[in-house]
Amino acid sequence: MTRRVALLGKPLRRRHSQVMHDAAFAAAGLDARYELLELDEADVPAAVAQARGPDWLGLQVTAPYKRLVAGLCDRVEADAAAIGAVNSVARTGAGELVGFNTDAPGFHAAVELAMGGPLAGRRIVVAGAGGAAHAVVFTCLSAGAARVTLGNRTVASAVALAERFRGVGAGSVAAVALDDPAFAAALRAADLAVNATTVGMLDPGTTIDVGALPADATVFDLVYVPPETPLLRAARARGLRAANGSEMLIQQAAIAFERWTGVGGMADVMRAAVAPLLADAAARA
Ligand code: NAP
Repeated sequence: MTRRVALLGKPLRRRHSQVMHDAAFAAAGLDARYELLELDEADVPAAVAQARGPDWLGLQVTAPYKRLVAGLCDRVEADAAAIGAVNSVARTGAGELVGFNTDAPGFHAAVELAMGGPLAGRRIVVAGAGGAAHAVVFTCLSAGAARVTLGNRTVASAVALAERFRGVGAGSVAAVALDDPAFAAALRAADLAVNATTVGMLDPGTTIDVGALPADATVFDLVYVPPETPLLRAARARGLRAANGSEMLIQQAAIAFERWTGVGGMADVMRAAVAPLLADAAARA
């Protein structure tokens, strides 16, 4: 029996996850495949119900269905419930569907690699208040960040996000508009600045003034297409440590793969498999 995993979303623009997981299935000697299911909202409940069958390992979920699928699972793990987004589902031996979130641990692993040290005790500035920013802010606070300053174009969303996570960890969390002088002040004292908006991917420009950052700060951009955003280019020109979102993508995939199959240590296989796609994006950027 060929085991199955499917990515649910609409639109599905990228094949990166399929390429990484299919390479890992082959490397692990598993008869399984990763499918792309671009579905209308009305068809999502039936697709999720189908994944209770014995041939299924689980699902991945992308925009705009992360909240919808959370409500269709039998159980949602505590971190995913706190973040408010399920981006992966595992089928248990009993046919139960368990929703979890891999963006948070994927970000955690990738950002600590980029910084060369732990998130604990750091002063962190995050631009964005969408789905990815929820995972980023939750991760920073639960990992023991000293202070998280959250800036968003729509300030009400930043305030709601900060309220949601107040009390997670021992650090403080503040929310401001991206153009508020308090955002620039937080940058001047930051150890880490994170772009969790679509700026640099969908819109030109940057959300973070790298000129304001201390010389030992790290810049982490969740965007990985294009591989070098204007933000990363500016950070590197200033001599700052800087990383895009490709390692987060790889780390979160390896975490999901281990949950479905019990096989760990697939990040290197996945990194090698996705490299041509990431390089192709570089050629088009
Ligand atoms: P989302 O929920 O749609 O949120 C988009 C965010 O970007 C919002 O905060 C929005 O602000 C902001 N934004 C959009 N256009 C802007 C502009 N012109 N100026 C300022 N802010 C703007 O998206 P998401 O799911 O959080 O994803 C955010 C980014 O993270 C995407 O580029 C995605 O590819 C990336 N991502 C990467 C990984 C990875 O593994 N590397 C994982 C997840 C996401 P408003 O609230 O004001 O609209």
